Amino acid sequence: MSDVFQFMKLSRNPGDKVEASVRKIEFKEIYQPLNAVDAADQAGRCLSCGNPYCEWQCPVHNYIPDWLKLVEEGRLFEAAELSHQTNSLPEICGRVCPQDRLCEGACTLNQGGFGAVSIGSIEKYITDEAFKAGWRPDMSKVVWTDKTVGVIGAGPAGLACADVLVRNGVKAVVYDRYEEIGGLLTFGIPEFKLEKSVIKRRREILEGMGVEFVLNTEIGKDVPIETLLAKHDAIFMGMGAYKAMKGGFPGENSPGVLEALPYLVNNVRQSLGTLPAGEAPISMKGKRVLVLGGGDTAMDCTRTALRQGAKQVTCAYRRAEAQMPGSKREVQNAHEEGVEFIWHRQPLSIEPMLGGTLAVRLAETRQSSKNSTGHHSLEVLEDSVSLIECDCVVLAFGYQTETASFLEQLKHCPDQLRLKKYKHQTQFEKIFAGGDQVRGASLVVNAVFDGRNAAAEILDYVF
Ligand code: FAD
Ligand code: SF4
Repeated sequence: MSDVFQFMKLSRNPGDKVEASVRKIEFKEIYQPLNAVDAADQAGRCLSCGNPYCEWQCPVHNYIPDWLKLVEEGRLFEAAELSHQTNSLPEICGRVCPQDRLCEGACTLNQGGFGAVSIGSIEKYITDEAFKAGWRPDMSKVVWTDKTVGVIGAGPAGLACADVLVRNGVKAVVYDRYEEIGGLLTFGIPEFKLEKSVIKRRREILEGMGVEFVLNTEIGKDVPIETLLAKHDAIFMGMGAYKAMKGGFPGENSPGVLEALPYLVNNVRQSLGTLPAGEAPISMKGKRVLVLGGGDTAMDCTRTALRQGAKQVTCAYRRAEAQMPGSKREVQNAHEEGVEFIWHRQPLSIEPMLGGTLAVRLAETRQSSKNSTGHHSLEVLEDSVSLIECDCVVLAFGYQTETASFLEQLKHCPDQLRLKKYKHQTQFEKIFAGGDQVRGASLVVNAVFDGRNAAAEILDYVF
């Protein structure tokens, strides 16, 4: 019998965090898993609110109080089944969602200062433990049809789309230019947030469900889009957002200045052993590193540099800490691991110095009062300039989406849609799209949501 006052008797526990001095020298997940007793106890803290705000704030609208109840009662496989009804990658979202501003941020227990139910850790627990115990998605009732869909991009949007398609008897063939699946889950988010073995296991699960992966294959370069259009009944594009935003100041292309994503990808490939011939491993060992930017990507770069043995890692952001766009939890983790922060600083220039170091000029910024659109603009105080000397600068200003070049070629095709029937359909009847490619740089859980919804639309379209 559950105790309705459990939330008062038991404090919030999202799982132990490895000591900062230990974790900052290794590429391993820093949050330890909950055991069965702790997971059940933590799940029992849920108030089962009549109107669960956590569900509304969760972008895929997970049935959170329901699977918490199943965990409390030890019904692990049923919890896994239910959790997969709304989320194709629950063990991954449980690890990387910024829960503080999604499900957990909306938990009623925050109101009384009791600490939110540790929803993310429990979501991760359910799938990790169910897989260990042999649970697999039930495909026994699937009736396979002759329909096939080509999915371009094996990131969370493409994987979620493929998951829903095969559960409905439609063959999903996922193409990706990279050597492994996952998109930014593999070639972006570092191992201290998400170990690569988690994605490898998800690949095995999806392949077991009938998803086919065609890797090392760039559509538009290695295979023309026309081939896919001829071969499949529909196409889903989940190609992400990879156009790096620039700072637009002198010296940002100097030697020793790196872009965030190529740096992170290089690091992942070192650990996977897949660095292409001719690409040198990048190491920050012994270096003074300055990361410019304040989002999740910037945090991942600072903490990767620390783990590579950097002598000093500093992050400069143009606004205040409270306005950083990424997860508050990850900023806190960076603080604990020894990253130094300077707030209200905007880069003006980077100058290479004799001996190979870099001099970065930073101006102070001040937030002005709200403008007519209700936003605070930023004033750059050019007479208040400081200089930082370092060995390497990493630019982490974010990523934008760009139109796939192969779509440009298709634009000459006369039969384009004037009116789209489906939300995720493009102007080409057979081609659907979602995830970062449509939204711009966003979140894993939003990509999953798009991939699943696009799949539902594709099912309606092909049948
Ligand atoms: P992607 O994950 O980018 O996948 C797109 C895939 O398409 C890639 O594999 C790419 O190789 C492939 N592709 C592109 N073009 C072609 C082509 N022509 N042919 C074949 N394949 C192609 N979100 C969170 O929720 N939490 C986090 O902690 C977090 N941390 C992040 C850290 C970093 C460093 C970055 C960059 C992003 C982070 N994000 C985080 C954002 C999150 O990773 C993305 O929002 C999400 O991965 C988008 O999914 P997607 O499937 O739309 O695209
Ligand atoms: Fe929370 Fe993300 Fe899981 Fe939704 S998917 S319950 S937002 S951790």
